[in-house]
Amino acid sequence: MPFVFDNTYAQLPDTFFKRVVPTPVGTPTMIRLNHCLAAELGIDATRLDSEEGLGILSGNQSADGSDPLAMSYSGHQFGGFSPQLGDGRAILLGEVVGTNGVRRDIQLKGSGPTPFSRRGDGRSALGPVLREYIMSEAMAALGVPTTRALAAVASGDHVVREGLMPGGVFTRVAQSHVRIGTFQWFSARQDVNNLQVLADYVIARHYSAVRHVENPYLALLKQVINRQAELIAQWMQLGFIHGVMNTDNMTVSGETIDYGPCAFLDAYHPAKTFSSIDHQGRYAFGNQGPIGQWNLTRFAETLLPLLHTDRPTAIALAEAELDAFTNVHQTALKKRLTAKIGLQTDDANSWSMVEALLQTMAVGEADFTLVFRRLPETLNSGSDEPVSRLFKQPTEILTWLKAWRNRLQQVDRNRCLALMRRANPVFVPRNHRIEEAITAGNEGNFEPFHRLNRVLQQPFTEQAEFSAYEVAPAPDEVVHATFCGT
Ligand code: AMP
Ligand code: MG
Repeated sequence: MPFVFDNTYAQLPDTFFKRVVPTPVGTPTMIRLNHCLAAELGIDATRLDSEEGLGILSGNQSADGSDPLAMSYSGHQFGGFSPQLGDGRAILLGEVVGTNGVRRDIQLKGSGPTPFSRRGDGRSALGPVLREYIMSEAMAALGVPTTRALAAVASGDHVVREGLMPGGVFTRVAQSHVRIGTFQWFSARQDVNNLQVLADYVIARHYSAVRHVENPYLALLKQVINRQAELIAQWMQLGFIHGVMNTDNMTVSGETIDYGPCAFLDAYHPAKTFSSIDHQGRYAFGNQGPIGQWNLTRFAETLLPLLHTDRPTAIALAEAELDAFTNVHQTALKKRLTAKIGLQTDDANSWSMVEALLQTMAVGEADFTLVFRRLPETLNSGSDEPVSRLFKQPTEILTWLKAWRNRLQQVDRNRCLALMRRANPVFVPRNHRIEEAITAGNEGNFEPFHRLNRVLQQPFTEQAEFSAYEVAPAPDEVVHATFCGT
């Protein structure tokens, strides 16, 4: 058997999930199997790369030892609370313990309806499967905590979206699929007993170091706040917009989850959104920190009955932790963004220089990845041109570059270059390249998909043969909107 399952979530009380088996698809074919990840999970990839493996990863064949289920959860979607969400198009097959001892969920996405599907078909179009594969593996290679992609399968069936689209099944791997919305499920039902069971489960699985502290639930809150504050700073260092930061799309493990309408910035603007349904800019690039705190406030509310028996005391404890979010997040963000210009947070003026640069980039509609990528080049050559030509109107950036060069005179050149190299990727999954891979994939050609995955495995390394993947989109290639593809 390809998977050695060791399931713990399925042992929890009935209200945590509904048991449901995947619905078979017509004629599945394997598009991509992640051999490296399989090895990390202690899975024999050659066993998985087989008829049996394809059967399991398409939902056509049950896997020995699996105990398939759809998880219960609620969530705030664009600020409005839905008490009844749950896995409507995902089925957790079970858990495996990897070679590093970390327990991980193996979940199929798009494997048919569940009791939580409401009016949905429980299926996924192929496009979102390819998008999630590329994005999540790129994020992992960029060093961002994230769910992973074990496999992308073409189902051979069609799904009804904007017309008929080819369907797919995606295998997602996560440290767990427990979300803020999972806590909200019990909180909304005033089920404090099971809320505590969930909190204990999460502590044992993700935060075992706090198990024996005086108030483990307060420690849990602090840990989740810290991980989310750091995670969102990492997104922003790279120009990543999550796009749908609903509380059901925020893990308590601190991994990025749900690559629906996400995107990497081309031209920088703090108000930038891509999601076709985010009309208010709630999840805009520059709003991700505050929204993270808003989501964590919803998390803290669910924990109140566990924090203290006296409610005002519980609220005061939670508020003190939530207040700390801004500081943790800002500190992480400053460290990561100042590194992008070769400076450290405590170097004088480093943050105000970042702010000035970002302001100039917003006005000049300059490409986020390329500006930072070209800074070392202008330093080495002494020419402004590699950077200034990325700006629609270069006057202000020329002033900034002059000030920046002067500033760098006072710090060690090699330290600067090393900071920039580590903070500024050469390759990010650009939206037009993802579209290209999806368009070809929908026509049965997976070459662009495979090539893009290959480039993005080493995002900080120059790869001369793939230099076209560094380039910003031409005006007619710019992607303006991305969709959740549900
Ligand atoms: P998401 O947009 O992935 O965050 O999903 C929000 C909610 O809608 C979750 O409860 C999903 O399970 C559900 N959902 C999304 N797409 C489908 C679908 N095609 N069929 C059934 N449920 C879905
Ligand atoms: Mg979701």
